Amino acid sequence: MINILKELPKIELHCHLDGSVRPETMFELLSEKEELSYKGFKEFEALVKVKDECNSLVEYLKKFKYPLKIMQSQENIERITYELLEDLNMQNVKYVEIRFAPFLHTGEGLTFDEVVKSVLRGMERAKKDFGIISNAILICMRDESVEESIKVVEYGAKYIGKGVVAVDLAGNEKDFPPELHEEAFKLAFQKGYNITIHAGETGIEENIPKSIELLHAQRIGHGIAAAKDPKIMEMLKEKNIFLEMCPISNLQTKAVESIEDYPIRNFMEKWLKITVNTDNTTVSNTSLEKEYNFLIKKFNFNIEDILELIDNSIEAAFLQESERIYLRKTIEDELITMELI
Ligand SMILES: [Zn+2]
Repeated sequence: MINILKELPKIELHCHLDGSVRPETMFELLSEKEELSYKGFKEFEALVKVKDECNSLVEYLKKFKYPLKIMQSQENIERITYELLEDLNMQNVKYVEIRFAPFLHTGEGLTFDEVVKSVLRGMERAKKDFGIISNAILICMRDESVEESIKVVEYGAKYIGKGVVAVDLAGNEKDFPPELHEEAFKLAFQKGYNITIHAGETGIEENIPKSIELLHAQRIGHGIAAAKDPKIMEMLKEKNIFLEMCPISNLQTKAVESIEDYPIRNFMEKWLKITVNTDNTTVSNTSLEKEYNFLIKKFNFNIEDILELIDNSIEAAFLQESERIYLRKTIEDELITMELI
């Protein structure tokens, strides 16, 4: 089974660029920038990854201060994007949507366009060198003003169809509910972006219907709190909204009290469309292979269940129909060769 998981053609739809920087690269680039107080790489690595669990989402989010320090130059952002795709290609990920908040990278003088173009260059170069296909999702931060979110939507619109496929809303869900950013997402919808929203990650179930009805979400990041309300689950099913679940990250951030409470089986039994993703490969110290393995061990998933997740991801991907057909064919051909279908 382990070997099959390694070789499976995979899709990643929820992956934050700043949470997925190679630790070695972070260490190297940080040492160039400042005097490091850590004894060596091992000690540093422990700081940037969550070991087994942490106490809360707040503690989890502290890990992001290190990558954000070095993701302030075009060269570094391009390199980090390229390396992530190189790593994912080694794991036979065929298609990935990488998300980032452009304005978290403008603190040392970069412009919005320079940030976005650096990511797109890294993606382009990885496609040429490894064949891995990727698209970008621009994140609006909940704790910023709606004006800032409108800027993300407006400035980013010229990249739609040129590597950018969607916008997202992320950050502190408890203090900054979806409706605060309604105007920005209305504009995003008019401009033709796809829309995915982080909602119901930290227990606030009403953020899920609000994200769908007010912010036009086609996909929901995490959505775990939907399990609390049958009406919300019914709505997700009826409107064909895909959930981007990230099991290992969700347990680390205490999105659920214990593994037994994680509702992935519950959702599948209710015929909700589930995709499984990593969230942050470095911070969560995970990979799609580890996520699948976790589901097999803890929730008795079999290979058919995993193939269903991958099939859902093909359907949920923010791709043009011709691109989706191509991706489906690429994946099916490999599964046939592996004698899995
Ligand atoms: Zn996320």
